[in-house]
Amino acid sequence: MYCNACGKATAEDGRFCAYCGNVVGISPTPKKLMRSRADRKIAGLCAGLAEYFDLDISLVRILCFFIALATGVCPGVVTYLLAWIIIPAEPELRPVLAAQQPVTS
Ligand SMILES: [Zn+2]
Repeated sequence: MYCNACGKATAEDGRFCAYCGNVVGISPTPKKLMRSRADRKIAGLCAGLAEYFDLDISLVRILCFFIALATGVCPGVVTYLLAWIIIPAEPELRPVLAAQQPVTS
């Protein structure tokens, strides 16, 4: 087994890396399929899928386009609309700059 953080070999039954202390074996943050807010074109579905499956976003968009083209409105577009409803959007990242600025009076 290898550490995801430093790449060094770790003990097979160990939960932490002996070199950097990183948790090994289990993913520290489980992946969750969510619609992307940052890279969205329509609903952020393609960006979310690309992120989830670790694929190139353009490749996912091209695939989605051709799947929709090949299958037509149903099920292609209907599936997209359903996924839009079912898959949650990733949490909104609010800018914190305004709160951190010192109050001048
Ligand atoms: Zn490590």
